[in-house]
Amino acid sequence: MNAQQSETAGSTQPDHLYKGRRASLPLNIVVIGCGLGGLAAAYCLAQAGHNITILEAASAIGDIGAGIQSSPNVSRLLMRWGLGPQLQEIGVKIQALSLKRWSNDEVVGWTPLGNLIDKEYGFPFYLLHRADFHRVLYEAAEPHCNIRVNSRVVSVDPSKPSVTLASGEIVYADLLIGADGVKSVTREHVVGGPDKPRATGDAAYRALIPAEKLLQDDDLRPLVEKMESNIWMGPGGHIVGYTIRAKKEFNLVMMHPDDTEGGIESWTAEGNVDKMIETYKGWNTTLVTLSYTRLMLLLNGGAARSVQKLLALVPSTLNWRLMDRDPLPSWIHKDGKLALLGDSCHPMLPYRAQGSAMAIEDAAVLGNLFSHCSDRSQIAPLLYAYQSIRYHRATATQRSSSLNRFIFHKPDGPEQEERDREMRAAKEDALRVARGEKSTYTLTGNSNQWADKTKSDIQFGYDADEEVEKWWLVNGKRLMALAPSIELKPRVMSSANRDH
Ligand SMILES: Cc1cc2nc3c(=O)[nH]c(=O)nc-3n(C[C@H](O)[C@H](O)[C@H](O)COP(=O)(O)OP(=O)(O)OC[C@H]3O[C@@H](n4cnc5c(N)ncnc54)[C@H](O)[C@@H]3O)c2cc1C
Repeated sequence: MNAQQSETAGSTQPDHLYKGRRASLPLNIVVIGCGLGGLAAAYCLAQAGHNITILEAASAIGDIGAGIQSSPNVSRLLMRWGLGPQLQEIGVKIQALSLKRWSNDEVVGWTPLGNLIDKEYGFPFYLLHRADFHRVLYEAAEPHCNIRVNSRVVSVDPSKPSVTLASGEIVYADLLIGADGVKSVTREHVVGGPDKPRATGDAAYRALIPAEKLLQDDDLRPLVEKMESNIWMGPGGHIVGYTIRAKKEFNLVMMHPDDTEGGIESWTAEGNVDKMIETYKGWNTTLVTLSYTRLMLLLNGGAARSVQKLLALVPSTLNWRLMDRDPLPSWIHKDGKLALLGDSCHPMLPYRAQGSAMAIEDAAVLGNLFSHCSDRSQIAPLLYAYQSIRYHRATATQRSSSLNRFIFHKPDGPEQEERDREMRAAKEDALRVARGEKSTYTLTGNSNQWADKTKSDIQFGYDADEEVEKWWLVNGKRLMALAPSIELKPRVMSSANRDH
């Protein structure tokens, strides 16, 4: 079995990782935060030959969260790490993306995914529960590292480097990786002061509904059975709904104008179900302009009321205030012994489902690069390489996630009509291709970002390990020769970075 075959089967140990390369100097590395990014970083850096300790603030690793996605760029890495069977067990393979109109449920945009994604990118696209995803990564990393819960980091000395825990204990390392999420304390040390997030004006209700409740209703049953990701787009908000956990739960994320006075940016803040229902009053109730398609849908038993019916089934909700942050000038402290990863350096708005993907790709790149380490003087240059490889991609993804907010939330009017016209044209083209006919429509720049093949190729075709190997071939030798003299400076933002 060659490496590619063993990745695809996902059943063998990843002894082919980094072409079998291991660091000749094992470093002591402290990873701050045991989220998805921290666990992936611990796993990859341990595979590269280093000694890893994870420090996690929470007192236990709990069953927190709801829906999250593993797009092919992540599945590719997880399967390379031997986690294919687990991923298949916990994931629902997404069949298509349906973009719907808020008022009447019309599917204006539709992009097939399913086997087409496997064929195009070689790896599947799964819908998951974050707790299951976290457990799979925990079980992969735990045998290779020391995970300490109840270990909140309260301050960082980036030059030693060391961290101080809430207990007063000081933990020293050769290298610190800040994987402490969106409210990172390590980020402040890299930025050089408190980092104030900006309110986006949006908040998101989150809820899980037992799928059996949807299966009992003729209007809602297809939402489970079709295994699509549904996005209802409306003025000032949108709702995302898809099935997870072997089709046993239905995940809802409902973006709306933030009315939480003094609301907090938190995955666990309680929301109010009555207020949530009130927010979407009027959604999916309009049957004024009955198009032919709409009429057929109604005659066939479909009705423009799925959103209202879904909301009526929500038992409880969380309300998460969405904050935005500008890309940082640098992810690395100038002393070259502290680097950030995942949400701590490039938090994303949840509009493109790429937050965990970017954190896990970061981890893969770090692991691969640090498999080259043979001397402590190489730590800073290797971090420099990490930032060079990752910065542009993560920043571009951050920006394209924000873009969906403007696309989805348009008020009804000429701009919304133009958006829907573009999406419908892309849908018609996808249906033509599904019938075996030729594509006749240019999808580049389409408002349905998933229909834009160029964008999908960039997002889903990315292989983090391959990127490192290519980069190393061109720059590796020179980097190692320069190692002792490399000085880390904050990155100057180029217009290319700004415009994505
Ligand atoms: C509890 C929770 C639930 C989530 N639920 C979802 C979800 O349902 N859907 C979704 O798409 N995304 C969810 N996310 C976010 C998602 O996991 C991240 O956006 C993405 O995976 C990037 O991962 P990360 O590792 O960078 O950050 P995170 O996954 O946020 O992990 C950061 C970790 O660092 C720990 N930490 C923070 N500060 C300190 C400190 N000072 N000392 C030590 N440890 C610290 C946190 O407790 C956490 O475990 C959730 C995150 C959290 C923390």
